[in-house]
Formats: sequence, C-alpha cells, structure tokens
Amino acid sequence: RIAYVNGRYLAHSAAAVHIEDRGYQFSDGVYEMCEIARGYIIDMKRHLDRLNRSLSELSIEWPVTRSALIVVMREVVRRNGVRNGLVYLQVTRGVAPRDHAFPKPGTRSSLVVTAKRIAPSATAKKAETGLKIITVPENRWDRVDIKSVSLLPNVLAKQQAREAGAQEAWFIDAEGTVKEGASSNAWIVTQDGALVTRPADHGILRGITRTTLFDVAAKLGMKIEERAFSVAEAKAAREVFISSATTIAIPVVDIDGETVANGHPGSITLSLREAFFDIAEKSPA
Ligand code: PMP
Repeated sequence: RIAYVNGRYLAHSAAAVHIEDRGYQFSDGVYEMCEIARGYIIDMKRHLDRLNRSLSELSIEWPVTRSALIVVMREVVRRNGVRNGLVYLQVTRGVAPRDHAFPKPGTRSSLVVTAKRIAPSATAKKAETGLKIITVPENRWDRVDIKSVSLLPNVLAKQQAREAGAQEAWFIDAEGTVKEGASSNAWIVTQDGALVTRPADHGILRGITRTTLFDVAAKLGMKIEERAFSVAEAKAAREVFISSATTIAIPVVDIDGETVANGHPGSITLSLREAFFDIAEKSPA
C-alpha cells in the first residue's frame, strides 16, 4: 500500500508524520472519508465542501489547493488499485513546538491521504444481516458539526458497543433523543413509511451520505421528516438504519438488546441503499 504524506508518496508501512505534529499532540485537525464504488469517488464535491467548512471553522489553512488535493486523492486511489473501498484524508494544523495556542503564521498544515480496498461483498453481508446498536449518554463537545479528529468519546462508545456484541453506539441527549452514531447518522422509518432523521443544524455531523439520501428519498418519492426522535420511537419503528460514507445505509435490527423492526433488514432501507449509487455524484477515480 502507498500513502501520501506532505508532498510524498511513501510505502504505507513507512509513512509517518513528525512527533510534534499538532494532530498527534492536540488532535488539532480534521478529516474526510469518501466512498469509492465501481471506480468512482462518491460525492467528492460535497466531501471537499465539508472539509472546507471544517478547516475554516478551526482557522486551519488548506495544505494544498482544492484541485491539487483532488489530484492527490486520485493518485492515491490509483496507486493502491482501489475500485471499491475508501479514501481517507486528514489535515492538521502542522508541525510546531508544543504550545496550545496556534503556531506562528506560515506554519504549513499537514496533509495525509490513504486509500483502502473493501470488498463490496463485505458491506453487502452487513446489510443482509443488520446491525446491533447500543445507546450511550452524549458526552461530546458542542462542535461535533466539525469533522475533527478529536474522537475520544466516539472511540470509547464504539469500544463499549463492541464489548456488548454490537457494531455501533448512539449518543443520546438529556431529553432522551437520538443524536447520531459514533461514526454514522441515525434514521428511522415510521409505520407509515416516512424517513425521520435529526436536523443537522447543530449537535451532530451533517453526514454527506445523509445529505445524498435526501436526494435519493426525493427521487423515490419518500417523505422525510427532519426532527429528533426518541429511543422508544426507534424501538417501535418500522425500520431503523444508520448512514455513513463507508456503509451507505445499513439496517439496524437490535437496540440495547431489544429486537427492532422484527429483526430483519427492512425493504425501505434496502431500496435506498440500492438507488444510492445511481443518484450520488460520481467522479472518476
Ligand atoms: N456522524 C459521525 C460522528 C461520523 O463520524 C460520520 C462518519 N464520518 C457520520 C456521522 C456520517 O457522515 P458521512 O455520511 O459523511 O460519512
């Protein structure tokens, strides 16, 4: 495997950033993860727009221009022979002597890009089985709309899920409503077939897959209600699913040990999943 690090393509096993990189010391950085399907980078424009927003919210400079970044992403995908999988990119505030406040102007931000193959059959299998979810209290800061690499609460929640035999954890707010997963957005389908997902104006990450699923739902003539929903409502829903660039839409069949949606992946989730590729923006990789 090959990785891109600050201007160079290196063997993945030997690729490294400096020990005083602010991403390493302060998790002072942001990232993006794009799906690659059938040789296309999916929703690249929306991912780069969100990267731009994350960077500007944190006053981190672009490490290279947007068009140069696209060239690097394509090159990393090509060099790794990825037709299905993902491309990951991370930008940090750069390398500087350790000091919490921003480093001196002119410090170059760091850029790392990697790509990885994932067999489509592996994700398809998850979609056929469905996932188990646990719920955990929301304990993150209030700027989770920024796609930052500060992911410690998400790491702990995901580990807790794993130890419980589940695959994802949902953060629940003080009112008992579902915020989002440790690495996904949360959705339900009501008994009358409407899609429900939480508004993304604050308190959750505005998932790119979430945004594109709005387009897919509109094309399929499905109704969307953008509102908060409780764990109880999810447990009584017709279907439950999560969305992210790596999973698209995957059914949930169990919440905190209780079977939901009869324990079977729902047909509405699967139809969204099927229509996604055709409707999403596709850039040749
Ligand atoms: N919420 C969180 C906390 C995430 O980490 C992710 C995955 N990056 C998402 C939502 C889904 O976002 P996207 O559809 O852009 O992958």
